[in-house]
Amino acid sequence: AKKKGKDQYAFFEPSMRESFQRHLEMEADLRRAVLRHEFELRFQPIVRLATNEISGLEALVRWQHPERGMIPPLDFIPLAEETGMIVPIGEWVLREACRQAARWNRQRDPDKPLTVSVNLSAVQLDRPDLPDVVDRALADSGLPAHRLVIELTESLLVDHRQETLERLNTIKALGVRLAIDDFGTGYSSLAYLRRFPVDIIKIDKSFVDDVGDVPAAAALTLGIIQLGQALQLSTVAEGIEDAGQLSELADGNCELGQGYYFAEPLTTEAMQDLLFPIDPH
Ligand code: C2E
Ligand code: CA
Ligand code: CA
Ligand code: CA
Repeated sequence: AKKKGKDQYAFFEPSMRESFQRHLEMEADLRRAVLRHEFELRFQPIVRLATNEISGLEALVRWQHPERGMIPPLDFIPLAEETGMIVPIGEWVLREACRQAARWNRQRDPDKPLTVSVNLSAVQLDRPDLPDVVDRALADSGLPAHRLVIELTESLLVDHRQETLERLNTIKALGVRLAIDDFGTGYSSLAYLRRFPVDIIKIDKSFVDDVGDVPAAAALTLGIIQLGQALQLSTVAEGIEDAGQLSELADGNCELGQGYYFAEPLTTEAMQDLLFPIDPH
């Protein structure tokens, strides 16, 4: 037993050191990535369920690492938040998303402008200059404020401070709309819906997953949609993957939907082709 214990010790110690080393390496890589602009955006369509038209796009960040390839956001955002690097990364995402959306809207039918949705981290919301950063991104891109949606997660609103609420009100006063992301996964949803100036609720994929095969899940999801309607909020169903889910949600009068069933997050070029198909003739 003693020997086994020793082996275990010998086994775990280098692996902890390795993971610490990896963490440091990743942090250095991330610093370099910010300086060298190694980030890219993907755009996923948000579809109006009644008409099947694209009403907006969600901008989702990717890290194109020179050796490790494409790194998804959940693998680097936590470290970026911990180190504060989410601030320059998030500002780039915001500016780039606004710039691209304004560009597409200039090419589009002026009666059908797109909105663009950008995810914001709590670290960004802690900064007093956030309203100025948003205002400048809008001014520099020419995107009207009401075409920008800022997505916030429930946990961010639950742990808020008074300044957070004031900052959100300042951003709202610009005309920007606010969405609650992953709605239903937190624990005090109803209380903060009254307190925060929210315009849109995005129903978490975990609810949408079971719509179509679990009757109780469908009832819950339809209840959230009705709650949204009663509060005059837009509702977006996230993670729609099949026609069965889509038809239940559309029947339940969910306004908007997003998911692989329509399209996965696309590169700028692929989104360009989707928005402006080239006539083959
Ligand atoms: P999210 O904001 O909830 O974004 C939706 C995620 O679900 C995206 O993952 C998207 O690719 C994925 N998704 C969309 N439709 C489907 C579907 O039908 N099925 C499945 N299985 N997945 C679907 P992604 O791009 O990996 O982003 C993950 C999370 O990373 C985001 O979740 C968001 O919380 C965060 N994130 C992404 N971009 C940014 C950013 O620029 N800033 C910050 N702070 N966070 C970001
Ligand atoms: Ca989101
Ligand atoms: Ca979400
Ligand atoms: Ca299912």
